[in-house]
Amino acid sequence: MIFETHAHYDDEAFDEDRDILLSSMRENGIEYIVNVGANLESTAAGLELAAKYPFVYAAAGVHPSETGTLDETGFARLKKLCALEKVVAVGEIGLDYYWDEPAHDVQKIWFARQLDLARELKKPVIIHSRDAAKDTFDIMTENKAGEIGGVVHCYSYSAEMALDFVKMGFYIGIGGVVTFKNGKKMKEVVEALPIERILLETDCPYLAPEPNRGKRNSSLNLPYIAQKIAEIKGLSYEEVIEITTKNAERMYQL
Ligand SMILES: [Zn+2]
Repeated sequence: MIFETHAHYDDEAFDEDRDILLSSMRENGIEYIVNVGANLESTAAGLELAAKYPFVYAAAGVHPSETGTLDETGFARLKKLCALEKVVAVGEIGLDYYWDEPAHDVQKIWFARQLDLARELKKPVIIHSRDAAKDTFDIMTENKAGEIGGVVHCYSYSAEMALDFVKMGFYIGIGGVVTFKNGKKMKEVVEALPIERILLETDCPYLAPEPNRGKRNSSLNLPYIAQKIAEIKGLSYEEVIEITTKNAERMYQL
């Protein structure tokens, strides 16, 4: 059974068929789903899904691109949400320098604050990092993120850097990009990583793997990602599913 470590089923892309889709997951081999928060509203929506479906868990956090509106009141609310039982991680949190806003300093402050929160609650973190490799690594090092643990999701940097995150004690989230024809860099990352440090994720509704690239993504596409990882690592499909599911259970403490 497959562990979907990163999904956004609260997204409006699923408004038409959310319940039909989620109800079909178990019969299609998806054992667990972690619905990841991007702000307070989506975290609350994720928690509603977690309340409705026993196999859905939630991560609570504010995405770096959403930190511009965060304040102490919002942070206090986030803290309460993070402490709930079905919340298995703080995330997604991190740095995104692809867009100019919010200012890098604002993103850095809330990244560090949310790392602290995870430490306090003894829950792992889900890191989102785009075009910000060095600052992400530095903030994680300064805040001793290795003691907290978690995953660098939708990983997009070099193989060398991936091993640095692993050395820090982190897992690496691999999604649809590994199946893309121009996904050479991701193949190198998967080659370099020990399979015991890889988590399967879709980041749906985004980043559907081949052969469904460009369409709305869902956890039902995870087998394509697992199959590609199996090819790259010279393992069987079943081995990849079994090991990555164990990895996710260990990380999310399930
Ligand atoms: Zn995400």
